Amino acid sequence: MNGRPEVLFPLFASIDSLPGIGPKLARTFGQMDISTPRDLLFTFPNAVVDRRIRPTVKGVTLPATVTTEVTVLRHLPSRVKGRPYRVSVSDSETEFPLVFFHAKPDWLQERLPEGARRVISGRTELFDGTVQMVHPDHILAPGEARRLPEFEPAYPLTQGLSQKVMAKAMVAAVERVPKLVDWLEPGFLESMGWPGWHAAVTGVHAPDSAQGILSDAPARQRLAYDEFLAHQVTLALARSRQRRRKGRSSTATGRLQAKVLEALSYSLTGAQERAMHEISEDMAASERMNRLLQGDVGSGKTLVAFMSLLVAVEAGGQGVLMAPTEVLARQHLETLRPLAEAAHVVLEVLTGRDTGKERAAKLNALRDGEIQILLGTHAVFQKDVEFRELRVAVIDEQHRFGVAQRMELGLKGDAVDVLVMTATPIPRSLSLTQFGDMDMSVLDEKPPGRTPVATATVPDDRIGQVVTRLKAAVAEGRQAYWVCPLVEESDARLQAAAEDRCLELRAVFGERSVGLVHGQLPPGDRDAAMAAFAAGDTQVLVATTVIEVGVDVPNASIMVIEGAESFGLSQLHQLRGRVGRGAGQATCLLLYRSPLSASARRRIEILRATQDGFRIAEEDLAMRGAGDVLGTAQSGLPRFRTADMECHGALLPAANRDARNLVASDPELRTRRGAAVRTLLWLLEQDKAIAMISVG
Ligand code: ADP
Ligand code: MG
Repeated sequence: MNGRPEVLFPLFASIDSLPGIGPKLARTFGQMDISTPRDLLFTFPNAVVDRRIRPTVKGVTLPATVTTEVTVLRHLPSRVKGRPYRVSVSDSETEFPLVFFHAKPDWLQERLPEGARRVISGRTELFDGTVQMVHPDHILAPGEARRLPEFEPAYPLTQGLSQKVMAKAMVAAVERVPKLVDWLEPGFLESMGWPGWHAAVTGVHAPDSAQGILSDAPARQRLAYDEFLAHQVTLALARSRQRRRKGRSSTATGRLQAKVLEALSYSLTGAQERAMHEISEDMAASERMNRLLQGDVGSGKTLVAFMSLLVAVEAGGQGVLMAPTEVLARQHLETLRPLAEAAHVVLEVLTGRDTGKERAAKLNALRDGEIQILLGTHAVFQKDVEFRELRVAVIDEQHRFGVAQRMELGLKGDAVDVLVMTATPIPRSLSLTQFGDMDMSVLDEKPPGRTPVATATVPDDRIGQVVTRLKAAVAEGRQAYWVCPLVEESDARLQAAAEDRCLELRAVFGERSVGLVHGQLPPGDRDAAMAAFAAGDTQVLVATTVIEVGVDVPNASIMVIEGAESFGLSQLHQLRGRVGRGAGQATCLLLYRSPLSASARRRIEILRATQDGFRIAEEDLAMRGAGDVLGTAQSGLPRFRTADMECHGALLPAANRDARNLVASDPELRTRRGAAVRTLLWLLEQDKAIAMISVG
């Protein structure tokens, strides 16, 4: 069974196979991402028109759509050109006109003969104080009225597509819905109060109440669950494939780790210990590790990563840590080198800046196994970089790595254990869609002794006072970041703003006291500026968001964020997380341009109210939606058609468990339920998953 199941063929025909749709309309549908009857079926109504028959229009709050049964009284053709044709009718209580512009009298006579009973339905309004119905949508003999749905669905449209054409196409698409073996078990459906698949997919297009089209209607929930399930099965298949590939068992002796722990001036948090334990177990197992390490800013992910690298070394192999930027790679070198020395482990850094002889020497040392731990940027994954015995790869701050890319990495297939570290906490629902193929360790506890960062807001017309206070603080030996606003238009503007601010601050603090980093600077200058700040040679560092992620200068205790209203919530949290890492009180000043929009005000309020990154992430998700939190384009976040994260996100954990259990017990999807799920994968176009089962 390798092709698409035949039962699904009618749904995957081209859209112009539906009645009333020719090539031109097909293109119009195409603009809405609808190219098959299947796509049409998964386009849900966004409104309903209540067409329940009422005894009279009397007492209805107008304007409204009204459906009522009337007797046709008399026709009143227009005498004056441009005036409408009227047909007077009466319902059980009152008399009112139906109004037609550009009327064809013959047609009206035929549809509305005087004295006849008719059910009419249409937009009813007050005009000059009297009730009238303009161009009824429906005129039916009482016997035909049963054809009228009580709640008529209305669909999103686009230029050139009318509700009528849409409705007609939809009726035809619904008629094509096949009977399929349900991939959800009856007991589960019953416990959730959900309909079977056929009833669900036809039911959403035939709502039996105004609530029927809401995202939380049972049929909608069920279809959302289907979508989550299909996606989670894809991830579970990827996970099981990866685990089935033989990994290598790396057993920690604890010898090197113990030396490092001794050298530390602090002890591990409970969360760090737990994460290390989970990682060591994975690495000792014969399957490949594929684990995500999540933690708030400052929760100590770097140390956990280093401990994992040491497991590889203790087992006689090598480890590599890849950072997203040069600055971060060098910073890891600074923090980790003393720890490596304490354990007598050889640590090196390799970035795009290594060239020529130096690079060749490093590559040799790596091939010989002399270098035991390698830090670096993407450069560490270049073709000619060979290890003697690579056992673990840690990818730092990489939640922008998409599921698809990670799958490809996994399919490349050496037996290397993989640990991915995220930059910020990700809401649970999102972490399941993003990382459902991985196991998860969470650092939900911060090292003790941290005082929360005092967070204040200041309108930007008081920037002069901020500078004065900053001057006093710097005189006391404190250091500060000054982050420039996010300018949408261009990098050049961003850079110009940072350079201007830098000049102004240099005029106040002195040339030598203020450093500058932004993305357009040559890497050497950027590193030099970071290094000078870290060493305390400069006191103020003017920066763009290049410092958003990961940078760690414990003595820096002041964060000024200019144009705070231009940043997202998680971004502000990340930035604030750059301070408050040492002892002593840290401060974050949010400069804003008034008036603040309601959402900017809310973001700033949340930030002031809590330092809990997981809570902030949830709030961010609620405020912005999933795509924005992760940046859909880079994130590889799946675009759900049916499911809506905000409304249905709570169903994800169940879909995740369901998928994992299914794939664990039936990895080839050969049981009756497995086969049904296969059909679901085809239906929802999970090509990656299909490729994996047909190969596997
Ligand atoms: P993250 O990468 O999670 O934002 P880091 O790994 O950069 O956090 O750690 C932040 C700071 O906390 C570093 O200066 C680190 O040395 C320190 N740190 C890490 N673990 C502990 C601990 N258990 N106790 C005290 N300080 C710690
Ligand atoms: Mg870090």
